[in-house]
Amino acid sequence: MGEANHVMTKEYALNYCMSKMSRENHLNNEIYIHDLDSYAVGMHNCLSLPIDKLLEKGFNTRQTDVRGANSITTAFQLIAVLFQIQSLQQFGGVSATHIDWSLVPYIRLSFLKHYFEGLKYIVGDTQGAETYKELVPDGANARDISIIDKTFYSNEKAYEYALDMTVKDTKQGAEGMYHNLNTLQSRSGNQLPFSSINYGTCTSTEGRIVIKALLEASIEGVGKLHKTSIFPCGIFQLGEGINRKPGDPNYDLYQLALKSTAKRLYPNYANIDWSGNAGYDKNDPKTYFSTMGCRTANGWDINGFGQRKDGRGNICPVTIILPTLAMEADRDVEKFMELLDKKIHEARDMLKERFEWICSQDPSAAKFMYENGTMEGYIPEEGIRSALKHGTLAIGQIALAETLQLLVGCNHTTEKGMELAKRIEALFKQRCAEFKNEDRLNYGVYYTPAENLCHTALEKFRKKYGVIKDVSDKEFFTNSMHVPVWEKIDPFQKINIESQLTGYSSAGCITYVELDSDMSKNISALETIVNYAMDKDIPYFAINVPSDTCLDCGYQGEIYNECPICKSKNVERLRRVTGYLTGDYKTAFNLGKQQEAEMRVKHNKYLGRVNGLIDGTL
Ligand SMILES: [Zn+2]
Repeated sequence: MGEANHVMTKEYALNYCMSKMSRENHLNNEIYIHDLDSYAVGMHNCLSLPIDKLLEKGFNTRQTDVRGANSITTAFQLIAVLFQIQSLQQFGGVSATHIDWSLVPYIRLSFLKHYFEGLKYIVGDTQGAETYKELVPDGANARDISIIDKTFYSNEKAYEYALDMTVKDTKQGAEGMYHNLNTLQSRSGNQLPFSSINYGTCTSTEGRIVIKALLEASIEGVGKLHKTSIFPCGIFQLGEGINRKPGDPNYDLYQLALKSTAKRLYPNYANIDWSGNAGYDKNDPKTYFSTMGCRTANGWDINGFGQRKDGRGNICPVTIILPTLAMEADRDVEKFMELLDKKIHEARDMLKERFEWICSQDPSAAKFMYENGTMEGYIPEEGIRSALKHGTLAIGQIALAETLQLLVGCNHTTEKGMELAKRIEALFKQRCAEFKNEDRLNYGVYYTPAENLCHTALEKFRKKYGVIKDVSDKEFFTNSMHVPVWEKIDPFQKINIESQLTGYSSAGCITYVELDSDMSKNISALETIVNYAMDKDIPYFAINVPSDTCLDCGYQGEIYNECPICKSKNVERLRRVTGYLTGDYKTAFNLGKQQEAEMRVKHNKYLGRVNGLIDGTL
């Protein structure tokens, strides 16, 4: 039933909602239109929620209105609710861009409440109300008074009690949010809402309490077997002078993050010093580089929001299937570049068509979103375009590696391949910048996740052009501009190569390396690799480590044929697919991704084997 419905809605979109040019590009395996089944209803892709505003002011739902949060526990609950409801208004993910900062006021409210309890019940100071007046003078807001304000020190016992209770509440709140986000359902029960939380840069005591609680919840896992949580995708934001080096105020939390990554694959790492996020405001964490777990990100908004991420999202993406163009250009580089230019222009027109289609919807189609301003900038008199225009129109790509193979006989692990790779990416970037100015819409280069497309595009390609060695002799196309998973290179080389291309992208990209279980337990080795990626200006970085769980005894680690403890073969094998984790990959992945996961080399195995490339001379 669900499946038949998908086929029909896709057909309907292709036949009635778009131009012949768009339809043909999609059907010819040249430019893929993502999430076709959400096209006709006019849904957009994803959103970074303006959490600060929603927690403070509350929001309306279909059934009722929800008051703003007044404690850390309710704040955590409301975030899960917001993620859930927003995910029903769209077809992709939801994120919080700086959740540690967002929760500071609620730590303070909880603390204050506990402090007065402490005064009343421990110290026996029944004049608590009078003290409250002293602490929160008329006109001041309790949300603004730091928990390390020296007025609180006057009563040591009450202070200690309040601090302990607040830390405890935060821990419970974080665990509750993890639990909720792993059990909520969306889209008629088909899947969990794709949720991501960015954090790590808030250095206030309150912010640090939040970060610690989030990381501890991540390390703890969920359920009886303490399984790794699939959601939320944690993204630790790294910044110079904040948490990168010993002596930085949040360096200890970076260490804790690495510990979590070693065990849980999360958090991933976002680089707030990334050159591509230039123009951000150091004093405004809403402008810090943040991302959706999958990799989708918001660049500079030409319509007035600048680098602000909150209340914006990816509106819709298309993906150019590069190997098809290489074949249609008779594998000739110059002909290819010409055809690519034409297709990038067509991709823009396809995005514009869909954008207009989405803009033609009535705001009541996504009432929660427009009523509460979760997508920001909405001016009723101007229609929903007023909000949608701040979002991103993403021009994606797939299989750069295979395309280079077709055009020059090698991929970008070689100098010759890299030279052409840069020429291709520069064209994408230049055109997106031009379109952005001409249309006043945020076009951006997108290194597409292509979870299913990696397999379906390959099948179509092979049907038309046959089996070509190192191009269509597998069940998948290589993700975006990634180095193919089978290339035997070490983590530093992988970073060197991909970091030369990440700067061309503004709508999102990810780089990851694969490590085996011995390496992954070595926190200082992990730190060296993450730091190397940051220093190489990688915006979004993740580490893949084996994370298998024996479903009978709960043993976790790398499990080969059977559990080393109880010999069970009932094993869940967690793998990363786009940026997010997916439950057991043998059941959750398509054939192409299954094969891709099995072909992934462990990059640390090649450490020291190839010299000369580690210094970045490639
Ligand atoms: Zn076992």
